[in-house]
Amino acid sequence: MASKIQTAPDEFRDHISTVDEQGKRLWVYPKKPKGKLYDYRKYVSYLLLALLFAGPFIKINGLPLLMLNVVERKFVIFGVLFWPQDFFIMVVAFLTMVVFIILFTVVYGRIFCGWICPQTIFMEMVFRRIEYAIEGDYTKQRALDKMPWNAEKIGKKSAKITIFLLISFLISNLFLAYIIGIDELQKIITDGPLEHKAGFGALLLFTGVFFWVFAWFREQVCTIVCPYGRLQGVMQDKKTVVVAYDYGRGEPRGKLRKNQERTEGDCIDCHQCVQVCPTGIDIRNGAQQLECINCTACIDVCNDIMRMIEKPEGLIRYESEEALETGKKWTFFTPRVMGYTAVLAILLTALTTLLLTRDDAEATILRTPGQLYQKTEQGHIKNLYNISVINKTNHEMPLTLKLIDKKGTIKVIGNELILPAQGIAEGVFFTEIAKADLTGMNSEIEIGVYHGDELITTTDTKFLGPAN
Ligand code: SF4
Ligand code: SF4
Repeated sequence: MASKIQTAPDEFRDHISTVDEQGKRLWVYPKKPKGKLYDYRKYVSYLLLALLFAGPFIKINGLPLLMLNVVERKFVIFGVLFWPQDFFIMVVAFLTMVVFIILFTVVYGRIFCGWICPQTIFMEMVFRRIEYAIEGDYTKQRALDKMPWNAEKIGKKSAKITIFLLISFLISNLFLAYIIGIDELQKIITDGPLEHKAGFGALLLFTGVFFWVFAWFREQVCTIVCPYGRLQGVMQDKKTVVVAYDYGRGEPRGKLRKNQERTEGDCIDCHQCVQVCPTGIDIRNGAQQLECINCTACIDVCNDIMRMIEKPEGLIRYESEEALETGKKWTFFTPRVMGYTAVLAILLTALTTLLLTRDDAEATILRTPGQLYQKTEQGHIKNLYNISVINKTNHEMPLTLKLIDKKGTIKVIGNELILPAQGIAEGVFFTEIAKADLTGMNSEIEIGVYHGDELITTTDTKFLGPAN
């Protein structure tokens, strides 16, 4: 979004900061950040990393906190099991999440990107810090990359690659645990790779992808790939709070000169905010640049400079574009925010209702193909059915079937129907109804699926009988 904030030609918006005019990648060597906000971000990242790694081990009613098993099409969210049959609930949940994200972004901009996004946390708080520890700060990293391959370079690069690979392997295990569950992952680990070639292959593949992302692709995930980043311009407006440079206070910028009275603004054009930026941009070019992940590193470094030159902090700060332009106080309840809040409230109500009224099981009952009906000696009519029941709980359930809206009997053929935990039970049964109770050749009947005395689900089906 163009704004009055710009202090440089708009041409920087024509290309991303990490690609030159020939389309060649410009490697970003950000200066090591430090400061109050960086410390807070570190604490938040420790907490989130602890939760992320603990997640697969946390179980609710024997089910994981989160499992997205796309292979078996089984999904567990907060200990609630969803099957593809719960597709509409998943759609409502997804829409709710999207509206929540939009609402959050309209109000608070890209706080998620800077503080919560796993890509930022792993890149800036794990991999980048290891890089600083091994290769030193940005000037040393640049010098190391330029120097010929000697013992120092080989030693430092091998140490970095080895540690990056090990961490990528760890993240790969974590990622797989969220897909297949920690129990299945433990089997892959304890049984050995030969017993689980596909699982082990997936682990190696994910390790390769994570290593490539964090060792090479880096900030390009945010600036090129991430759809959330691309949509910022649509979601944010002038009232959105973002990391912004106070151009009114900072401009005209000018170098600090000794023994000379300063006539320029507060920005001393030290370029520290540019050097510290992990996506290689200049925040002074204006708010809402698509590459800005709102990491706050430039706020910290500029505050350091302001303290040094004895000016008030906050030349770069969290602020809305409108507040910078007009000096007006930031307001939370704009018409746009109220609109999104209303839609979110409706979706949340729908989602809660769907979740509360969801059955523990779902049954599909179909007449056995190729069968008509049979007459018994008593003159009753029998139909043969196939049943398939999905268990949405983590408990095994022996099942019984009863007619709900008609008198008659149901007899399961073969073994008792036992519904395994998180599994599917299939069977065949006869339904017998007195001819007098039928409404024609094709009667609607409702069958209840019981666990003990508890009716867990019902389903409608057709019952064939004679014409008269
Ligand atoms: S760090 Fe602050 S003073 Fe230095 S160039 Fe950036 S905005 Fe100006
Ligand atoms: S401009 Fe500032 S907040 Fe945005 S990515 Fe760069 S350092 Fe982080």
